[in-house]
Amino acid sequence: MNSIFAKRRNRLLAMKALRDNYIPGDRLTVCPKCGQEHQRGAVAKDLFVCPGCGYHFPLGAYHRLSMILDSGSFRELNEKLLAADPLSFPGYREKQRTAQRKTGLNEAAVTATGTIGGRRCVVGVMDSRFFMGSMSAAVGEKITLAIEYAAKNKLPLILFCASGGARMQEGILSLMQMAKTSAALARFSEKGLLYISVLTDPTTGGVTASFASLGDIILAEPGALIGFAGPRVIQQTIGETLPEGFQRAEYQEEHGFVDAVVPRSQLRETLSRLLRLHEKGGRS
Ligand SMILES: [Zn+2]
Repeated sequence: MNSIFAKRRNRLLAMKALRDNYIPGDRLTVCPKCGQEHQRGAVAKDLFVCPGCGYHFPLGAYHRLSMILDSGSFRELNEKLLAADPLSFPGYREKQRTAQRKTGLNEAAVTATGTIGGRRCVVGVMDSRFFMGSMSAAVGEKITLAIEYAAKNKLPLILFCASGGARMQEGILSLMQMAKTSAALARFSEKGLLYISVLTDPTTGGVTASFASLGDIILAEPGALIGFAGPRVIQQTIGETLPEGFQRAEYQEEHGFVDAVVPRSQLRETLSRLLRLHEKGGRS
């Protein structure tokens, strides 16, 4: 019986993952870093990493989950939680509908439970295709509910961050999510549970200033832009030229903000190993 449900869940995730990166009629893809053209199929096979220069293309949330979780273990949390329009911001509703239609997502974050290497955990993934992965009240609520679910069930938590910052159409309500998610993580941490944050391109603004930076272990994908304000704003403010690679994952690792830069091909294995080590640590 269980295996029937597992197969069904796996099929559902595979379908959603396929939709994430499907562009009709688009056989070739141009790498924005090196400018080379590649067969889309070849890039997809390489986990959406450029075969020429190693550039990590952005991934849809379901696609990411399908790469990370054990087959058949995916169970989505709070799938129906939708964005609201608390300030009646002109044009916001329409933009939400367009983003939903284009991406098949309800919001810029998908949260789920599943297993990695046989160990149960809670995983949240932000999707930069939806309003640049910006933090709406609904995104904050989804992340908070995922943290609380992990705390209640004593499960490790992994959050894949990708965000342009706060959702400006929701004003102060968006900014409040920084405090809300941070407070939930503090309660989670008091229970001695493990939180791993994985910073992907780009992780900026309010997300960097809250849950992205609060991981017990902070991993990052190669080349990811990680910062609060963008490099252009900083350069204009301080009136100085910034060093090469400023705010990139490797730079942040060198300066101690990131624990390790992990290529996408090694991410699942790294997470699996960390979960295994944590479980053993907890037992001794
Ligand atoms: Zn490239």
